[in-house]
Formats: sequence, structure tokens, C-alpha cells
Amino acid sequence: MIQKAEYEFYMNKCIELARIAKERGDSPVGSILVKNNTIVGEGIEGGKTFKDITYHSEIEAIRDATKSLNTSDLSDCILFSTHEPCIMCSYAIRHHKINTIVFAIPVNDVGGYSSKFKVLEDLSVKKWGSTPKIIKGILEKECLALHE
Ligand SMILES: [Zn+2]
Repeated sequence: MIQKAEYEFYMNKCIELARIAKERGDSPVGSILVKNNTIVGEGIEGGKTFKDITYHSEIEAIRDATKSLNTSDLSDCILFSTHEPCIMCSYAIRHHKINTIVFAIPVNDVGGYSSKFKVLEDLSVKKWGSTPKIIKGILEKECLALHE
């Protein structure tokens, strides 16, 4: 069980990555994956830079983590992201069985938790197993400031 200060520590890492995205003209979104208090994956939003929507920071962090851990099983990992994962990223999150999602800003139209497409809460896909724990609102003000 990790504490609020630790959530904020990791969210600040996401903010650093989001700033890199913003500087190169992408949406200011950054994500990391943490396992046993170690960062095992980092993702920087790159949809505009690479003209490819699958460069969402959450998917980049997952890709980085599966490489560094050399496994597709991320069930012991926590995903931190400046923004609520979208429905596309939520599919990847469920597939890789990430057990906890910590985000700052909700995304009401296409978020996997807040929108009508509740991929993060779905129990009908058997192979996905149990739903991830969701912790929201960590450093929300600081993340919203990325858009200024
Ligand atoms: Zn996404």
C-alpha cells in the first residue's frame, strides 16, 4: 500500500514527461508504470509527432515496461498518468492486467472510467479478470496547469 506522498512523487514524474510532450507540440500527457516502487516504464504522448494515435503515453509506458521486464504480464504494476486513460489505452491496460490506475484529470468523453465506454470497469470479458483499482485526482491542479 503506497501513501499519498508517493502517489504525488510518481505523478510529478508523469508531469515531467508531459512537459516533454508539450514542448514538441503533442498533448501534455505523460505516464509511467511502477513495480515494487521502481519505475519500469515511461511514456510520452506522441500522437501528433508520429501522426499515429497509438502513441498515447499510456501505451508507450506499457510498451517500455514489457520490454524492460521482458514479460507481457504487468499484473504487479501500477500505472500513473496525468490524464484518465482513454478507451484505447484502457483495452491495453486490461489486456496486460495492470492492477491499479492512478490519474489526475478525468476525461469525460473517451475515458475508460468516466465516459459511457467503461472498459476499465467491464466484467464481461472473462480473460481480463478483475477490474483495476482506480485512484483519481492526484495533483489534478498541477496537471490541469499543463494545458495553460
Ligand atoms: Zn489513450
